[in-house]
Amino acid sequence: MAVLTCSDMVTQCLEGQPSGWKQFVSEYLPFAATVLDRHFPRLSARRDELLRELLLRVRDEDARFFRDYSGHSEREFLMHLREYVLGVGEEQEAPAPAPEIPLEWDVFDRALTGLSALERQMVWMFLLSPNNDDTDQILRVDPKAVTTLLARAQEGLRAACDRWNPEMLAQNRHLLDQEARARRTKECPAPKVFLRALDGQITWRDREELDRHLAGCWHCVDQFCRFREILFLSRRTQPLPDPETEAYLKVLGIEARPPSRWKCLLGKP
Ligand SMILES: [Zn+2]
Repeated sequence: MAVLTCSDMVTQCLEGQPSGWKQFVSEYLPFAATVLDRHFPRLSARRDELLRELLLRVRDEDARFFRDYSGHSEREFLMHLREYVLGVGEEQEAPAPAPEIPLEWDVFDRALTGLSALERQMVWMFLLSPNNDDTDQILRVDPKAVTTLLARAQEGLRAACDRWNPEMLAQNRHLLDQEARARRTKECPAPKVFLRALDGQITWRDREELDRHLAGCWHCVDQFCRFREILFLSRRTQPLPDPETEAYLKVLGIEARPPSRWKCLLGKP
C-alpha cells in the first residue's frame, strides 16, 4: 500500500524529495508499463528503455507532468499518467495511416443511436483498444454479449454508410476519439461522479440519471470507459520490488537508501 497520499506524493516530487519519487516509481511505474503493453504491444521489447525515458521526462521541464496534474484522487492521477504514457508511446510509433474509408462523426453517432449506456461502452472499449479482447472483463459482462453487440454495431454502420468494411470502425478510432473528447457539454458530470458510480457509491436514481446521460453522450462514454480501463489495469498491477525501484531511481540520480550509519560516522560518501 502507498505510504503517502497521492497528492502528498505529487507535492514531494515537485519538491524533489526522494520519498515522493520512490513512491512514484514503485507504485506508478508498473501501471505505466501496463498501459504501454496494452496500447503499444509492438514496443514491449523496449519497455524498460521507454520507462526510463518516461521517468526523465516527468522530472524534466521543472516536473511539468506533476505541475499539470489538477485532479483530486488517485484514479484521476492514474488517468493523467495514462494520457502521458499514451503520448510517449504514440511518439515512438509511425502515425496511424488514414482510414481506408473515413467515418464521419455524425454518421457514426446516427448509426449507433438507440444503444444503451452499457452497449455504448462495449463499442467504446473496442475503439480504445481494438487488439485487446477483454471488454467483457472490464465491463463485467458476458463475452457473448460483447460479440453480439459489436456485430450489431457493425451492421448499423454498414446500413448507414455508402461504403463500409469491417475494419472501418477500428481504423477511424483516433478521429472518433478526438471528436468525442471535444464534445463536452455543460450537462456532462465531473470525474468524481464517474468514480463514485464505479465504486457503487451513488444512489440508484443518480445511477439511472448517469446511464441516461451516457446513452446520449459519447464524450462521457469515452471518459467513463477510460476510468474503467484504469481501474481494471490498476487492480492487476503490483508495486515494484525495492531493487528494481532503486535501479529506476538511479536514472534520476536519486539514491534510494540513506547512507549507512557507519558511512556517516566515517565521513564516507
Ligand atoms: Zn456528457
